[in-house]
Amino acid sequence: MNNKLPDKCKLCAESKSDITHELFLCKHVKKSADVLVDAIKSVDPDATESSIVKLGWNTSDSLTDQSMVFLTGYILDQIWSYRKRNIRPDADRIQSELAADLLILRSSKFRNVAVQCETVLGPLGPTQT
Ligand SMILES: [Zn+2]
Repeated sequence: MNNKLPDKCKLCAESKSDITHELFLCKHVKKSADVLVDAIKSVDPDATESSIVKLGWNTSDSLTDQSMVFLTGYILDQIWSYRKRNIRPDADRIQSELAADLLILRSSKFRNVAVQCETVLGPLGPTQT
């Protein structure tokens, strides 16, 4: 399996592409990634894109930690799955699907994780700015 990033971003042709650019900073993914960055910064103001990709934020309790792991995995996987197809991530669609999946998570034994995610995220969906 070839996990090497291309030298140039396939979405914007930025020549110095790296994992932070690909998942957070590219102008075509930023709207999608900012939902995650804003959520994590609300629990750890010192978090950065570089620390988030390594799950390196500082949280005060395990419920918040679990919620941030869920959100990071969910949103970065969504962004990456668009990228793999050379499609610009659809931030509104990602948020709508996340809201729907959090409703499903609420009916599982991870209800508290879903509630914490929703609390940290605030309102989701295409009507939000
Ligand atoms: Zn780019």
